[in-house]
Amino acid sequence: MSLSQVSRVIKPFVVAVKHIFMTPVTVKYPYERIENVTGENFRYDPKAGIAYPGFKGRHVLHLNKCTGCSLCDIACQNISEAITMVYGFNVFLHFDKAFYDALKKGEKTVVELMEALVDSLSPKQRSEPNLSVSHPVIPVAWSDIRSVQQKDGGYEWKLNLDPIYDYRSEAVIEKHFSEFLRWCSENGWSVKPITVEGADKEDEYHEISRDDLKIRLGVVKIDEGKPQNKKSYFPSVDYGRCVFCGFCVDACPFYALEMSPEYELSATDRISLYYDPKKLASPPRTQPPAELGWFERLQLILRGG
Ligand code: SF4
Ligand code: SF4
Repeated sequence: MSLSQVSRVIKPFVVAVKHIFMTPVTVKYPYERIENVTGENFRYDPKAGIAYPGFKGRHVLHLNKCTGCSLCDIACQNISEAITMVYGFNVFLHFDKAFYDALKKGEKTVVELMEALVDSLSPKQRSEPNLSVSHPVIPVAWSDIRSVQQKDGGYEWKLNLDPIYDYRSEAVIEKHFSEFLRWCSENGWSVKPITVEGADKEDEYHEISRDDLKIRLGVVKIDEGKPQNKKSYFPSVDYGRCVFCGFCVDACPFYALEMSPEYELSATDRISLYYDPKKLASPPRTQPPAELGWFERLQLILRGG
């Protein structure tokens, strides 16, 4: 074998060994990550009319700037309908002393009514979202009857633990209470919508009565106390639909919406991809690198990491 033939055999091994000690250009994700620079996000300056190029990750909503004008929602409508403008709601069940005493005594009709309510509120399985609808129903965390408190000479049970975000109070009733109200109508209780003095026009109340027993189901809008957005009307984003085009950011005239470098948005269920206004307003997450095993550590050392 000639010297040049030996050299041709050895050369690839030398190149391979050399590369073990070279810093690679590829990133060993998730053990390594490119630094998450918050300033390098895509944003739009409406006064200057300039869109700054940058990474289009998860949106960040500035609640103190958003006026609830809906322009981001309108911009998204012809793209993917990922944005829904929503109000936050609390749901209260009011009952008077007669109803409370009947409940305490265990009167059959009253106990059956409360059982029907509690059964209808059972959280729907997160692993079984209804995929036949384009916008999934977001499950609600419900409180239990121990949170009943005395109020205005009667009693009040705040049913939801966290705000329920939806575009109308009617939608809250339809999604979470229609089964209960149907049960009431079919089991001798009278159900009628009522108006309550001083209520917001978005609030919705239903009176449920039978003989001298009466309760009131109220879906009450939450006032977020933002002076520039008196309606407390904010966008929410469904990342199961968003294509990260940034048109909504371009459309916002109040510097209230920008995109962040947060890209780790994957989830194992459809519901977790829904970001309500509070979640959208949270600062972008910068995940720490995954825990390294001995093999990954050795690889990083050999690669000059
Ligand atoms: S970035 Fe997402 S939410 Fe915004 S307009 Fe595009 S698809 Fe809609
Ligand atoms: S984020 Fe901007 S465009 Fe969207 S509702 Fe708020 S102010 Fe209007």
